[in-house]
Amino acid sequence: MNLKQLLDSNIETYGEYDVIHFRERSYTNLETKVISDSLAAGLESMGIGRGDKVIVIMPNCPEVVFSYQGIIRAGAVIVPVMFTLHPKEIHYILSSSDVKAVITSAFVIDKVREAIMGLDMKPAIIAVDMPAGGNIHSFSRVLKQRAIGTEKNNITISENDTAVILYTSGTTGSPKGVILTHKNLYSNAANSAKHNETERGTTLGVLPLAHVYGLTMSNICFLTGSSVVVFPAFNPAEIFAAIEKYKVKSFSAVPAMIHALLSYPDSDKYDTGSLEWVGSGSAPLPVSLLHAFQEKFKAKVYEGYGLSEAAPVVTSHRKNFPIKPGSVGIPIPGVEVRIVDEDGVEVPAGEVGELVVRGDNVTNGYYERPDETEKILKDSWLHTGDMARMDEEGYVFIVDRKKDLIIRGGFNIYPRDVEEILNGHEAVSEAAVVGVPDERMGEEMVACIVKKNGSSVSEEELLLYCQDHLAINKTPRKVVFMEALPRNGVGKILKTQLRKAAADIVQ
Ligand code: ATP
Repeated sequence: MNLKQLLDSNIETYGEYDVIHFRERSYTNLETKVISDSLAAGLESMGIGRGDKVIVIMPNCPEVVFSYQGIIRAGAVIVPVMFTLHPKEIHYILSSSDVKAVITSAFVIDKVREAIMGLDMKPAIIAVDMPAGGNIHSFSRVLKQRAIGTEKNNITISENDTAVILYTSGTTGSPKGVILTHKNLYSNAANSAKHNETERGTTLGVLPLAHVYGLTMSNICFLTGSSVVVFPAFNPAEIFAAIEKYKVKSFSAVPAMIHALLSYPDSDKYDTGSLEWVGSGSAPLPVSLLHAFQEKFKAKVYEGYGLSEAAPVVTSHRKNFPIKPGSVGIPIPGVEVRIVDEDGVEVPAGEVGELVVRGDNVTNGYYERPDETEKILKDSWLHTGDMARMDEEGYVFIVDRKKDLIIRGGFNIYPRDVEEILNGHEAVSEAAVVGVPDERMGEEMVACIVKKNGSSVSEEELLLYCQDHLAINKTPRKVVFMEALPRNGVGKILKTQLRKAAADIVQ
């Protein structure tokens, strides 16, 4: 099945219903189809069609969903871009992917204008909340702009056509465009929904739609006949109010959001009794956070694991199955997982190796980067760069990213082991451990700590705490206190940036 068929079958199966809620507005699935069909026709009248790339860059709003669906219906390719990126990063994406149009909003337009400077071929700019003028097309006018002969969109889409080119968040280097086909995305949405027994209901769109995790959650919403309350920014008060209003049973988030919801002082003012579970993915979920959230909200937290290159879900906990804290659950249907050594040979249960993935969800590679594609795809297995172990029951535990491994005096240290201990300290709000260059040891370990409000914990206390809970060689050399940890648009800690900051501080 392709994504256009997924959207059409939503209407055939569930009839007309409110699918998007956003502030005071709601849209039915039929209205969404009419708007996105009009956008597809409008894009065609601008000469944009099959295989052409269109960037969508703006905070979450219904127009992001309309744009994605319009681009799909036109047979074109969505290039979702996080609006939080720097103009230079947006320029990089524009110059490396031959984009025909950019759909954006007044909030982001200045960045877009700066980003297109110096490009040989300037893309058309379509803005959702701006009048037409200069080089700007207004979104509402594009909707009315059907070209003659495009009254009915009859484009045929094959499941192997590219649907999305998704630039990875660049936490480990410069972003690369992951090619995702209709099959990759459809199979992942369908298998995730099956695995999690996702029921029809109202969910929360708190994840950025520009991130693969948010994109697939929106596909799951249409697949299961569900509705979504879309949020342009992460605001705990609005999220709790929506849980109460729509009696939300489940939603997906990232650990930083789960942490913010738990720390929100007024959560008791809302009725969150409907909440049964929250899915967590995209970054490690500290075990202490899992327990504290479950305890406070009497709702389960199902941690999963995925990556853009796998469209994205690879493993997840399942409803009605035991939760193993620290684990990311078991592989979802249709996705094979192996833990292998450096020669690609599977290691015995319990041993650490690289996690590799095979299935219909796996990308064919990076856009125009055969050199990088070669590094990750070997005999149809996707090499994730994540170190993990699998227990006898098939539960996967992510140990850490290969690239974040610290080699101190010849010993391998996975920062996550140390972070888990520090996160368990009562005075610690957040912890991230990085390696910095050291003449004697090769690398030294620095713990970057955000204290809980009002705490006066000292470096010595935290180092002693580590010594009490960890082998001596795993105790950080230094603790640095920070106001906040650097994060990307989806809330992931930017370890590359943190390593530089920590190295500057300790020198
Ligand atoms: P870049 O590849 O440019 O560094 P990125 O890796 O952040 O960007 P994503 O595809 O957004 O790009 O993230 C996938 C990565 O996120 C995984 O490879 C893994 O390292 C990490 N990850 C995802 N879920 C989890 C989890 N539950 N626990 C630990 N790490 C996770």
